[in-house]
This record gives sequence, structure tokens and C-alpha cells, in this order.
Amino acid sequence: MTDKTLPILLVTACALVDSDGRVLLTQRPEGKSLAGLWEFPGGKVEPNETPEASLIRELQEELGITVKPACLAPLTFASHTYEKFHLLMPLFICRRYEGMPRSMEGQALKWVHPKDMRDYPMPAADIPLIPFLIDLL
Ligand code: C5P
Repeated sequence: MTDKTLPILLVTACALVDSDGRVLLTQRPEGKSLAGLWEFPGGKVEPNETPEASLIRELQEELGITVKPACLAPLTFASHTYEKFHLLMPLFICRRYEGMPRSMEGQALKWVHPKDMRDYPMPAADIPLIPFLIDLL
């Protein structure tokens, strides 16, 4: 049963795909919740931001890449109830961007084939996205 008293947190995620069909994962750093887990780049949508604008901002801040709105396409939606909030997480795909993704915030980065993603521990909300990406890519 869903707890309707929990707040909803809207977080975007991006499947950044390279020419080999690998997807970039980033590792949550020490000091953050779920430290050490691997996730898709993205982050919290701020008030008055669209999910796309938020993701473009996050990709610039986290990875130093510039993504044009036309290069982001919605793929699917993940949701998960954590102890303190319901997470809603739209997943976008991006194959074209300017710049080389690099760690802007000290986080580890790894290009991973979706079929190998189960070797990388991920937050509960992200795990159902793995079979989706295996089928897609
Ligand atoms: O990244 P940030 O700490 O702002 O995310 C807030 C919360 O959203 C995390 O603590 C985690 O519970 C959840 N989250 C997630 N999967 C992601 C990103 C965030 O489950 N890819």
C-alpha cells in the first residue's frame, strides 16, 4: 500500500550512450546517501525547472558536457518508495553531446554495457531500468 503522506521527489536520470552501446554510470561519493552505489547521471529537479532543463544543468555540472534539448529523448519512468519519500525518476537517452564526460565532482565514472550493469550495485529505483536498457541497446 502506498503511503500518501510521503513527499514526492522528482529526480531525472540519463542513459548517456556511446558508439559501442555502453552507458555511463557514476558512483555516488562518500558523504552522500547511498554512497558507493552506481547510478545514471542526473539529479533533483529544482522548483520551476522542467525535467529536461534540470538534466541539461546536471550533465553540465556533473560531467562538464553540453547537451542540446533536441538531443534528449524520454525513454521510460522509474519509481520507488524509499523510507522518507516516493522517488519519481524519468529516464532520458542522449547519444550526442559536446565535450568529453569527466568527473567534475570527484565521482568515479564507468562506461558499462547494460548486460554487465548487474555487477555494479545500484539504488533500488535504478535496478528495474537495467532490463529495459538491455532490450533497447
Ligand atoms: O542525488 P540525490 O542525493 O539528490 O538524490 C536524492 C535521492 O534520490 C537519493 O538519496 C536516492 O534515494 C534517490 N536516487 C535514486 N537513484 C538515482 C538518484 C537518486 O534512487 N539515480
